[in-house]
Amino acid sequence: MPIVTEYDTIAAISTPPGEGAISIVRLSGDQAVEIAESVFRGPNLLKVASHTIHYGHIIEPQTKKEIDEVMVSVMRAPKTFTREDVVEINCHGGIVPTNKILQLLLATGARMAEPGEFTKRAFLNGRIDLTQAESVMDLIRAKTDRAMQVALDQLDGNLHHLIHELRAEISQVLVQVEVNIDYPEYDEEEITAKMLREKAIMVQQRIDQLLATAQQGKILREGLATAIIGRPNVGKSSLLNYLLHEDKAIVTDVAGTTRDVLEEYVNVQGVPLKLIDTAGIHETEDKVEKIGVARSRKALSQADLIVLVLNASEPITEEDRSLIEETKAQKRLVILNKTDLPQKISPADLAALGVKESPIFASIKNQSGLSSIEQQIKVLFFGGIENSQQNVLVSNNRQIGLLQQAKASLVSVVNGLDAQVPIDLVQIDMTACWEKLGEITGENVPDELITQLFSQFCLGK
Ligand code: GDP
Ligand code: ZN
Repeated sequence: MPIVTEYDTIAAISTPPGEGAISIVRLSGDQAVEIAESVFRGPNLLKVASHTIHYGHIIEPQTKKEIDEVMVSVMRAPKTFTREDVVEINCHGGIVPTNKILQLLLATGARMAEPGEFTKRAFLNGRIDLTQAESVMDLIRAKTDRAMQVALDQLDGNLHHLIHELRAEISQVLVQVEVNIDYPEYDEEEITAKMLREKAIMVQQRIDQLLATAQQGKILREGLATAIIGRPNVGKSSLLNYLLHEDKAIVTDVAGTTRDVLEEYVNVQGVPLKLIDTAGIHETEDKVEKIGVARSRKALSQADLIVLVLNASEPITEEDRSLIEETKAQKRLVILNKTDLPQKISPADLAALGVKESPIFASIKNQSGLSSIEQQIKVLFFGGIENSQQNVLVSNNRQIGLLQQAKASLVSVVNGLDAQVPIDLVQIDMTACWEKLGEITGENVPDELITQLFSQFCLGK
């Protein structure tokens, strides 16, 4: 862990942009309290007890003009999020006073924080590890309660501790190997090999268990890209409206590079669906429209879940057939809608076309079959996971990639032992595994990666 002794004081607006009831301007660093005090009229912040909150006003030092009525929290290091002195100024929501306060702080000696810099400091000061830093980002972006819970568990350090355990297992065996090599009084070669193999297999199993959660973790994090498709008039919009109704629609401000993009999510039994607009998928001769169709088809092929709606009250058409064919390799729900009318499509008809899924019978008009649709979506993605005791989910590509590399090193360990490769070469692979696991928690990461990781955060976090 890098030990950093001195930082300048940073400031940023920590609440989302726009009008809210309250906005928070946050300061962190050695000068946090001094800088806040220089623009504050109220109790002397330099003298107040740590972790207390104070009523007063922010004033412009030169003109003595009142900017806003505020509550100021003073939190002295080290028991703070960043492990530095932290001051939070709770002000009245509006954009103008909030920005004005920030500008005053910047004029008084604070520096504008970079995105994620507060969290980065918490990491650099040893307050949290990388998996926990990433979960702060997940919390900000969490789209359902379940996603939030996973992020909270991770923030709690569940993944961190699991990785620590595995690393301890590995270093323990490596130490033992060293001892055996240094004192080869009697033939230890065989015992050493056996020990290394057992440990490698054990750790690999644990890594496999973690990797098995990756798919779910990623979906909770990023949302399940879902396309509702079908020919015109089968009931797609009706289904969409049902899914969107009540308070299920979630509009999320995606942090980072795509900051300004508003994406629409629907929470279906804890699964965040990210709806893909596939309105444009149909045969057309129009050139401009063709571009739209091509784009929609690409989106369709990249969807994590296809919801194919068929009109059960009409026989299957050529267009139905080609949609069935086109999506056969994807995770798919097939819905026979309009079952309130006389039926012209049977499950056998679908089976004859190579549809392996059992169709869900629905009448969106009569609100029947809808809970089955929701239930199926949930089962498709949480089957087995939700009931398991394991609260550790790996959820991002960085963690998944490192786990895979760690696993590859273990495979080399076992293969090497099988091929009677000298123990000191096998040791190298075992050590590589230990290092890769260390990168997950951040005990072993290059500086530029840290900068890149934290730059994905929102401003003010
Ligand atoms: P889309 O073109 O696929 O989006 O289809 P819509 O959702 O706009 O529905 C087309 C028509 O079918 C509308 O008049 C709906 O009211 C009707 N519809 C939708 N679902 C059902 C259903 O389950 N039963 C019946 N009888 N009509 C339905
Ligand atoms: Zn630990």
